Amino acid sequence: MGFVKGLRCKECGKNYEKLPIHVCEYCFGPLEVDYDYEGIRKVVSRKSIEAGPPTMWRYKEFMPIDEEPTVGLHTGYTPLVRAKNLGKKLGLDQLYIKNDSVNHPTFSFKDRVVAVAVAKAMEFGFDTVSCASTGNLANSVAAHAAEAGLKSCIFIPDGLEAGKILGTLIYGSQLIAVNGSYDDVNRLCSEIATNHPWAFVNINIRAYYGDGSRSYGYEIAEQLGWKAPDNVVVPVAGSSLIVKIWKALHEFESLDLIGKVQTKIFAAQATGCSPVTTAIKAGSETIKPVKPNTIAKSIAIGNPADGYYGIKTANESGGWGEDVDDEEIVECMKLLAETEGIFTETAGGVTLGVLKKLIGQGRIKKDELTVLCITGNGLKTQEALQGHFEAPTVIEPKLDHFEELFANGITV
Ligand SMILES: *Cc1c(COP(=O)(O)O)cnc(C)c1O
Ligand SMILES: [Zn+2]
Repeated sequence: MGFVKGLRCKECGKNYEKLPIHVCEYCFGPLEVDYDYEGIRKVVSRKSIEAGPPTMWRYKEFMPIDEEPTVGLHTGYTPLVRAKNLGKKLGLDQLYIKNDSVNHPTFSFKDRVVAVAVAKAMEFGFDTVSCASTGNLANSVAAHAAEAGLKSCIFIPDGLEAGKILGTLIYGSQLIAVNGSYDDVNRLCSEIATNHPWAFVNINIRAYYGDGSRSYGYEIAEQLGWKAPDNVVVPVAGSSLIVKIWKALHEFESLDLIGKVQTKIFAAQATGCSPVTTAIKAGSETIKPVKPNTIAKSIAIGNPADGYYGIKTANESGGWGEDVDDEEIVECMKLLAETEGIFTETAGGVTLGVLKKLIGQGRIKKDELTVLCITGNGLKTQEALQGHFEAPTVIEPKLDHFEELFANGITV
């Protein structure tokens, strides 16, 4: 297998061999994987994909690996939920939720990128994987390293949620909390990467890593019955996912797997860290780095690596960007749970809050087919809900205790 020709600079087009490198040495542009689409076209059809496993590897011809993957085999193909209750509440006739809060094995969309990155790290012969993470990536790298029998050394900003920390330590990883923001952690990791021959999944393996999230876009199109939606609302951190969903839909279009793509892509951020949506709203293509201050820690990147491309994606697609504050994030975590029975993390609260705003602005309309990207699980960010619910009433295991309570008007 393998349809990867090499790497290519996204800016100047210079070609590179398949190596663990991510920056063009001529123009400092980011490197992208260069695929043999004619080769892919010869072997891939709707039918061949439908006959594949119920995982992201049903699109393995599109993945940037040369050998059969041996780890992360169960990731992806998460539910695309028809959200009738929430749609009714918001006044949308066709609302869907792409639910990666139940992705295998660590309950976020990051399992897609890490499945690819770790497979690639193994092909390159690395014995240690590493990353700079806002939490979900840490969980996923640690889990996949354990499965692959690799060592892992993981860097996070100090002060992440307990679920994200424990959800990394459990796999036996070396976890290092850095006194600073994610952006400080990332800069430190770039320096460490020059001294230590490790696979940093979102640094030297980044070109390959990012392409794993195209599977999220492919699944949306396939699960809709082989078509692109009218709107997708995407939570944005480093801007990798938003760019790759757009790319995925256009790859499917150019291979005639779906019809013409007219999807608008909308970026969602927390007001306390909104460098991408602020630029979109200002009509600017340049990121002004910010210092994050929000409960949506998983998407709190103040200086996003692909921010420029994230802005371009929203603009070129005819979409937009919006942000919501922490209070609205919590309200929307509750709203999603109460209407659809899906407990998402803070990032999901951001996405839903932004969808509400976009409907209010008339940018997303009643009869359009809209996909809301839910990318992480609420059990990992319980701190965000602290103080928002009363403790359960405690009674003795006696019928009359319950009946007394019931007579006093508890609501069921
Ligand atoms: C990492 C992450 C994102 C977005 O990541 P990008 O860096 O923009 O690709 C969205 N949601 C959650 C829950 C994440 O962990
Ligand atoms: Zn270049």
